[in-house]
Amino acid sequence: MISQDMIRLGTSKSVIRELFAYGLQRSQEVGSENVMDFSLGNPSVPAPKEVQDAIIDIVKSNDPMVYHGYSSSQGHNGCRKAVTDNINKRFSTDYTQDDVFMTCGAAASLNIVFKALTSSPDDEIIVLAPYFPEYKVFIEGQGAKMKIVDAKSDMQLNIDGIKEAVGKNTKALLLNSPNNPSGVVYSEKEIKELADFLSKKAKEYGSPIYLISDEPYRELVYTEENIQFIPKYYDNTIICYSWSKSLSLPGERIGYVLVNNRCYDSTAVMAAVGGAARFLGYVCAPTLFQMVIERCVDVKPDLETYRKNRDMLYSGLTKLGYNVAKPGGAFYLFIKSPNGDSEDFSERAKAYDMLVVPGTTFGAKSYVRLSYCVDTQKCEKALPIFEKLMKEFKK
Ligand code: PLP
Repeated sequence: MISQDMIRLGTSKSVIRELFAYGLQRSQEVGSENVMDFSLGNPSVPAPKEVQDAIIDIVKSNDPMVYHGYSSSQGHNGCRKAVTDNINKRFSTDYTQDDVFMTCGAAASLNIVFKALTSSPDDEIIVLAPYFPEYKVFIEGQGAKMKIVDAKSDMQLNIDGIKEAVGKNTKALLLNSPNNPSGVVYSEKEIKELADFLSKKAKEYGSPIYLISDEPYRELVYTEENIQFIPKYYDNTIICYSWSKSLSLPGERIGYVLVNNRCYDSTAVMAAVGGAARFLGYVCAPTLFQMVIERCVDVKPDLETYRKNRDMLYSGLTKLGYNVAKPGGAFYLFIKSPNGDSEDFSERAKAYDMLVVPGTTFGAKSYVRLSYCVDTQKCEKALPIFEKLMKEFKK
């Protein structure tokens, strides 16, 4: 019999995709300039010119059998070395290419790591709400349990909640900073507190608790010193990275898993990462893009449009009286619905052709997510709509 779980998954509707489809339909009816679609987290800034130059040069100066061929399972040596050279330079670490496994983006990296770290249906991964909705699909799909801890009201780490949630079945805690959907960068103080607590608990239980750091937005921060490198705080860290957002390459499916070399049993963890990638069919990440990354790993993201949009929207919305989580990175704002009902807010916004995603899908039902990876003009047009909505709520 066909898997009923997979049929359910394949036919259940994504709220985000539905809103996006609705936006396309409305654009045909009223013109795209009149639809403020803040639903998708698709980068609006094109990939840097260095990326295009690298593609052209690779294609012109290499044998197609190389750039269209398989790489080794874990990725080309040159690419993995370029990745670790970049990290070592920036974060004073001493990784080698053997610490990195190239993947098809952060989604593949996460699935690989969940598969590698869990082996029983009782194994738990702690996820901090609000969270990227696919986490549930990935964790449960790999046969483990997802345990949710709500963030504090400022969307920062809820250390007390984490302390209550961690138990003997906790295999790992999943951290995502800058966060999708809130845009919040977790404070260093709280990350250190978390690291201390996890170390203590691991000692008490006599088994490691891993920190899985999901970092597709690591470089998308508005003050450079906010770029966080989690292994600096906690040895048992495994990074899931991708260039989907930082280099605007979501369609190219390229990222990596990095197992911190000070992590407990790091050789075995890396072997399990290789095994999970093999089991899941996520080996040999796209070769052409491994070659592009080898050349472009030091290229910085273009943050100008995102910064302009964030500043305008954050200051505009707070002036209008909205409660907005302080956004330090990514390209999302998490806005509290004035009546605490995000579905209602999203529906009312839709009536003005403004599309924001209800927070229910992210595990925070009173907030809506706004993705400001759009033209700045759309953000300018959105503020008067938010003003009208606020007036409606105050009536
Ligand atoms: N993790 C988070 C927090 C995300 O927001 C996304 C994509 O939006 C992913 C993982 C998946 O990224 P990728 O496109 O690299 O698979």
